[in-house]
Amino acid sequence: MEVVTLNNGLKMPMAGIGTYLMTPDVAEPAVLKALAEDYRLIDTANAYVNEKAVGRAMKKSGLAREAVFLETKLWPSFYEDPDAIEKTLARLDTDYIDLLLLHQPAGNFLQAYKLMEDAYKAGKVKSIGLSNFSEAQIREIIDTFDVKPAVLQAEVHPYNQEKAFKKYLATEGIIMQAWYPLGHGDDALLAEPIFDRLGDKYGKTPAQIILRWHIQDGNIIIPGSKNPDHIKENIDLFDFALTDEEMAEIAALDKETRFYTSTPELLARYVTMVPPVDEQE
Ligand code: NAD
Repeated sequence: MEVVTLNNGLKMPMAGIGTYLMTPDVAEPAVLKALAEDYRLIDTANAYVNEKAVGRAMKKSGLAREAVFLETKLWPSFYEDPDAIEKTLARLDTDYIDLLLLHQPAGNFLQAYKLMEDAYKAGKVKSIGLSNFSEAQIREIIDTFDVKPAVLQAEVHPYNQEKAFKKYLATEGIIMQAWYPLGHGDDALLAEPIFDRLGDKYGKTPAQIILRWHIQDGNIIIPGSKNPDHIKENIDLFDFALTDEEMAEIAALDKETRFYTSTPELLARYVTMVPPVDEQE
């Protein structure tokens, strides 16, 4: 497993499992399977309403807490709750979170960043970052606070590579983490002939070629899957390397198109949308 060193010195695995759209009864076995396959990074969120299940899977795995890099995200409707992080820790049944992100640039995100910064200084959160923030919003955070974000989560895949944005992040020492690394399973993306061709060459599947491209391009990946075969496959990425020419061919697939489009209306709605976190099993 390759690891990256964040701007505060913390080491983070380059590949993990994402749990978006997984109900607790799906998330628990998926995370347990991932940990059995030597995954050491799990991504969840308040809004996924499966944090308790993730915590249970970590316990059931028998692994020491320090062996796993646990990442979650605060949801905008909790940004002004001074106990938002304590409640998140309680749901995950853990003393600390390895990486905590603000999920969306909505509502009172400056107040929420302050909450994260205080928790970081208290050792309850080992690193902090942002998700779906623009360059201007990241600059505002950096100008306002002592602790810089370590990671930025954004939609990144071969059709939306965010090349210019990544150049900016690099100047700030912020690492890109790709959500929708497989384009949310988009058929056209997975069927691009180059992934088939390189898969034949390396004895890998098209999904593995895409995930390997991310790793070599410096993106931390958290592909989502509940399928045990896919979970196994999505971490089996570290015994081959794409050539510079192959990386360039994949870079040429960039269309700067996303599958998810954020709007001011959606962001405004997120502030009042309260995920039923207290009802989760
Ligand atoms: P993804 O790009 O990881 O695609 C997942 C889909 O691809 C699966 O549902 C499955 O249909 C397919 N798939 C997975 N492995 C495969 C394989 N080996 N071969 C063929 N098909 C395969 O999309 P995702 O799961 O929605 O996103 C990944 C993670 O990113 C999420 O689980 C979540 O943790 C995170 N995320 C974050 C945000 C955010 O706003 N911060 C938004 C979306 C997702």
